[in-house]
Amino acid sequence: MPSAMRTNIGLSRIQNEDSAWYDADKGIFAVADGMGGHLAGEVASAMAIEAVRKMAEGAKRASFPQLRDAFAAANADILKHAETHAECSGMGTTLSVLWLSGDRAYLAHTGDSRIYRLRDGNLTQITRDHSLVEELVEAGIITKEEARSHPRRNIITRALGTEGDNQPDLILEDNHPGDCWLLCSDGLSGMVRDEAIAAEMKKGDPEEAADALIRLALAAGGLDNVTLILCREEAAAWKRG
Ligand code: CA
Repeated sequence: MPSAMRTNIGLSRIQNEDSAWYDADKGIFAVADGMGGHLAGEVASAMAIEAVRKMAEGAKRASFPQLRDAFAAANADILKHAETHAECSGMGTTLSVLWLSGDRAYLAHTGDSRIYRLRDGNLTQITRDHSLVEELVEAGIITKEEARSHPRRNIITRALGTEGDNQPDLILEDNHPGDCWLLCSDGLSGMVRDEAIAAEMKKGDPEEAADALIRLALAAGGLDNVTLILCREEAAAWKRG
């Protein structure tokens, strides 16, 4: 299936703590956004992606138990590494995984990286951010617009690498020919509005859209690392999985 992946350090960070990986043949796509001092965030996001890669290696038909196990393995690996490496203490990461299988899409998600689907020209955010501002929006305390510039918009309420709440949301969606999927870190969704993201995705070519989205994030200030994966389902791919 036509797919494209990009990651960019942005214009104000001194390292890129995002990680991403995909296998288009298997229909598995993953983005992680790490946090923690020094190189710790990078280590955490890479460990999360490695757990997904391992899952993909032994993958049978798409299923939620395999996704849940991969998230649990990533969480355990990160906690264990942090225990034995003082510089990594407190590190954590988001993880968003999309697994396309025939006419089904299996999503697993922790944190504020996002998965969107463009269908018939309409862009829908499928995942719900695990973030403080999302909770404030849902409680009616601030608007979605206020959330975009809220000083505490970087606080996430669920992450891998924590003893607390780290269970992924598991979401089953359908996957139609022509659907375009986007996974991204908040360096994209926080800098570029959904309407502008949709406009680029509608043009159709994942490679061109990926470049355009990175350009838009940088043009908007590039305040964070920007990572994204785009893929487009095609009728022929329905044999997969
Ligand atoms: Ca980020």
